[in-house]
Amino acid sequence: MRIDYRELKSRIRLRELLERIGWKSVKGRGDQLRGPCPLPGCRSKVSNDCDGPTRKDLAFSIHASKNVYRCFRCGSAGNALDFWQAYRATSLYDAAKELSRNP
Ligand SMILES: [Zn+2]
Repeated sequence: MRIDYRELKSRIRLRELLERIGWKSVKGRGDQLRGPCPLPGCRSKVSNDCDGPTRKDLAFSIHASKNVYRCFRCGSAGNALDFWQAYRATSLYDAAKELSRNP
């Protein structure tokens, strides 16, 4: 299966992906939203974090119109495709395949 990454990246909205997995922002308005990091690799780091719960809940930030995200705790960052790859803990190809199948 051939994947048009550029087309996918512009079509898949990070914000919609996040809504699909039940992510809710804790803070922010308009394009810039912050909340807890939904990535599986990030959750495991929670116990080692000595910051308060408030900072933990705001580690993950997205810019909706730029369609990019960044997590200040696990350091993961990128576009909607990168996010899905990290969230599903899979390869970029498989993540893209999944997203193109379920737009
Ligand atoms: Zn994270």
